[in-house]
Amino acid sequence: MYKRVLLKLSGEVFSGEGNKGFVKDRIDYLLGELKSVVEHGVEMGIVIGAGNLFRGAELSALRAKAADQIGMLGTLINAIYLKEILVNNGIKAVAISSSVNSPSFEPHKYDLIERYFATNHVVIFGGGTTLPYFTTDTAAAIRAIEIDADVLIKATKVDGVYNRDPKLYTDANRIGKITFKEAIEKGLKIMDKEAFSLCQRYKKPVIVINFFVPNSLLSAIIGEKTGTLVLPD
Ligand code: UDP
Repeated sequence: MYKRVLLKLSGEVFSGEGNKGFVKDRIDYLLGELKSVVEHGVEMGIVIGAGNLFRGAELSALRAKAADQIGMLGTLINAIYLKEILVNNGIKAVAISSSVNSPSFEPHKYDLIERYFATNHVVIFGGGTTLPYFTTDTAAAIRAIEIDADVLIKATKVDGVYNRDPKLYTDANRIGKITFKEAIEKGLKIMDKEAFSLCQRYKKPVIVINFFVPNSLLSAIIGEKTGTLVLPD
């Protein structure tokens, strides 16, 4: 079982794929999945996206740098939301941000973050990398490396990484395990390039799971074969 994980959640965990906002049954599902992990004593950091609110690329009337600021503000809204629903359901949690001075956030300080892990808090990172032109995948890679997580789990809406596009090819197969080097050679897209290259350079294993299959998160954490495991070369 992995002891410390960094979980990358898309904002769409709040709304359902392709939807916006916060939808009750999606939130109940999210809570159930996270609760089962916390009950196993896993130290969990979470980087949350903002796909349920704003993605920079969707705000095409704006300059990219401003659209991305709005996207990052969306991740801060989601970080507060996630923290509140966890706390309201008896799960200790803290929201961390280096980009805002807000009563809802603790500052991004390494010793403080360690104290929160030591006292069994889920540590939620809002605000992405703080920089425009990046995504929360890259923020997740950075935070996974910073907190020395045993693994980065990218929660998606697909079962893992396939050898060819399963929407186009009926004989496409899911890859259970692969190295970073092999993934590059085969031209597979695991996460965005910046995030991928950080994980490869800092030898951070990545597991891609389908978050919407019940228990897939816990299965990945306890080491059952699920999704796709990407290992250092
Ligand atoms: N964003 C950014 N810098 C970052 C992380 C995020 O500018 O380091 C912006 C970007 O516009 C992005 C939006 O915030 O589209 C929301 O993040 P993301 O698209 O990764 O959310 P997800 O798809 O995971 O819900």
